[in-house]
Amino acid sequence: MKPLTRPHLLAFLFGALLLSTVAALQFWLVLGVFKPSGFIIPSLIGGFTGLISYHLFHKNKIYQKHLEEKNQRLELVLQATGLGFWDWYPKTNQVVYDARWAEMLGYQPDEIEQSLHTWESRVHPDDLQQCYQDIQTHIEGKTEFYSNIHRMLHKDGHWIYILDRGKVVERDAQGEPIRFSGTHSDITALKRIESELQTKTENLEHVNRQLKQLSVTDGLTRLHNRRAFEQRMQEEWQRWKRTSTPFSVLMIDIDFFKNYNDGYGHLAGDECLKKIARQLQKAARRQNDYAARYGGEEFVIILPDDTLDKAYEVAESIRTAIENLQIPHAYSEISKVVTISIGVAQSEFSTDEHYQTLISAADKALYLAKSQGRNRCEKYPLFESMDATQ
Ligand code: GH3
Ligand code: MG
Ligand code: MG
Repeated sequence: MKPLTRPHLLAFLFGALLLSTVAALQFWLVLGVFKPSGFIIPSLIGGFTGLISYHLFHKNKIYQKHLEEKNQRLELVLQATGLGFWDWYPKTNQVVYDARWAEMLGYQPDEIEQSLHTWESRVHPDDLQQCYQDIQTHIEGKTEFYSNIHRMLHKDGHWIYILDRGKVVERDAQGEPIRFSGTHSDITALKRIESELQTKTENLEHVNRQLKQLSVTDGLTRLHNRRAFEQRMQEEWQRWKRTSTPFSVLMIDIDFFKNYNDGYGHLAGDECLKKIARQLQKAARRQNDYAARYGGEEFVIILPDDTLDKAYEVAESIRTAIENLQIPHAYSEISKVVTISIGVAQSEFSTDEHYQTLISAADKALYLAKSQGRNRCEKYPLFESMDATQ
């Protein structure tokens, strides 16, 4: 128990004195006598009444002081965090907004009406339905807090992003909300950063995709480059081992291209390579056909799922198509136009061989085509290729 303080004693004395004086006056006026025993009880009652009154008064003062301090602290927190405060009474649709709530939207506190309409009429029409949905979900007790991000119309006419958070703080006996309190914070700057970051990320992803594309594309012909081809061969080789569905490779080489370069110049040589590449790309038109520049004036085409005979047919049609381009080649020893030779090879079941064996088989078939006069196709099954060079 707390010791009695001086003010407590004074209150006691004051009460005692007051009531005993009243009692004395009463005795004297009514009875005309003065009996000291008649003062004891009134002075005790007076004393305790004074003491209790002072105590209650003092307690109330302390409580008021605490309340004020608490409000001040809350005010400081709201100020420091830039939060605007709202207090909604759903039964009357009255809403109390504080000054920062109004300022956030560019208004002076006395410029806004303390009603739900003030908020509702400024929320972006596309966002309002979701707001009410989130509010309802919270009212039904499905969420601990109401939280929603929506756009609100600023007095200047632009939209700002608001993070709106709240909670039902009082309900009636039926569980209907009586008071719903919450805060607004302006997160427009954050949203801007978020969207800038998103744009930057998208740009970066675009650049990455381009870089990736560049790293697998041949700069001159725009066909896949050697690196991409090796990767694809690896995949096809593994697929073949898994499924036992064979695939074929065409190794293509331009005939007398050194002569072409020497005769027409390197730039014309480049143009010729581009024309041939375009034609090869056209030829590899089925979904999984894959044309690449193998290096120099050599190209490769992967033909998945093709038998050797089918692949040979495709090779023949490509050879004819290039011849039909009618690119003049005055320096060729076998034709008046640019021609190509093609080696065709097909994968066979194997567990320990590398896809390189298939490339070298096609290469050996190409060598055969060259040695047999050029402008022709030769096929070479992988196992027969062992004696190709013999
Ligand atoms: P073959 O019929 O036996 O294939 O003879 P070829 O002259 O075509 O073969 P060779 O390997 O002797 O010469 C290939 C030439 O291809 C040499 C080189 O100048 C040329 N070449 C390779 N890459 C390029 C290129 O990117 N641009 C140009 N213009 N020429 C290239
Ligand atoms: Mg060559
Ligand atoms: Mg050549």
